Amino acid sequence: MAEIDRKLLLDCALCPNMCRCECPVDQALGKEAVSPTGKARFAHMMLEGQLPWSEEFVEAVYSCVGCKGCETLCPFEGLELAEELRLVRLEAARQGVTLNSVQPYLSNLKKYGSPYGSRAPLSEEARGSKGAEVLVFAGCTTVANNPASLEAILALLDRAGVSYQMVEEYCCGYPADLWGDPELARQLAKENVRLFADSGARKLITNCPECWLTFKRRYPEWEQELPLEVVDGTAFLLELVREGRLKPAKVEGLEKVAYHDPCVWARYEERTEVPRELLASIPGLKLEEAAAAGKATRCCGGGQMFQLASPAGSEAIARRRLAEFPAGMPIVTDCPFCREGLKVEGAEVLELVELLQRACCGGSGR
Ligand code: SF4
Ligand code: SF4
Repeated sequence: MAEIDRKLLLDCALCPNMCRCECPVDQALGKEAVSPTGKARFAHMMLEGQLPWSEEFVEAVYSCVGCKGCETLCPFEGLELAEELRLVRLEAARQGVTLNSVQPYLSNLKKYGSPYGSRAPLSEEARGSKGAEVLVFAGCTTVANNPASLEAILALLDRAGVSYQMVEEYCCGYPADLWGDPELARQLAKENVRLFADSGARKLITNCPECWLTFKRRYPEWEQELPLEVVDGTAFLLELVREGRLKPAKVEGLEKVAYHDPCVWARYEERTEVPRELLASIPGLKLEEAAAAGKATRCCGGGQMFQLASPAGSEAIARRRLAEFPAGMPIVTDCPFCREGLKVEGAEVLELVELLQRACCGGSGR
């Protein structure tokens, strides 16, 4: 497992903190303690034994949405503050401190394999064709908060003639790792790898960028070898449009949308053109960009499951982000956390797959 880079963390703790203007948590909460330097200082002092490992200080270390905003202005090469803070949270858990607010979700993970609790078994339709090459991985947040987006992707695959299957998946492990239980994360990953191997599928598609990143980045760290290729769901659908297997038509009554770039896609992967090409494929639809778009995106408040760890903090970030969008049109995004995060103040937010379903299948049907 990676180790905390104490030297870089100290550099950050002593830095003038100029990047705070790009830290959505700092900007929304206006507290020195949750500025990038503030978090690094608490982390450094707890590690050095100058402060106790208490919930009060650990809460500051949890106040990071993993957006990489600070990195856009950071002079220290190799410093990924969100990653250092993640490692400090793992150390906090070893010291017996985990945030109280996440405890119920951790219990659910242990009991049901999902942070949101038990879930209904898959329907026959969702199970698809046993042995199909493509396996759809929904992700816990989609299943719990927006099953319509899962139905949309299945409908689009049907429409394009792509045979798929689903399995009774477990959480990818991301929240357990975020909240300081790497053993649980590894266990969940192991169960998933077993299910994927048994399925015989060769390609996994997911519309959740956090699941995608977990498969790509964490599974190798957890020594879990995936038996299939992991593919970004939006990119997969764009290929189907390019091949002419999906044919978007005008969506009646919808002329303009705004698009919110999820941090994982825009900042970690620098993938910003895929959703724009997909939106451009819908006849008669105009994209109006947000004030901060593409790689300059800002977090919706849902990064690193901040909605669950700190609902009020997450909402404060979302309100600031919403003010950056043009008024009077829906906001489209391709992340279940962003959709959930931005749904404050009556904002109309939908996932790209839902819009594509309307364009390709008409209404909400198949
Ligand atoms: S992330 Fe970089 S720029 Fe921001 S406070 Fe830390 S060292 Fe300074
Ligand atoms: S990753 Fe984002 S939330 Fe975390 S410290 Fe940097 S700017 Fe703030």
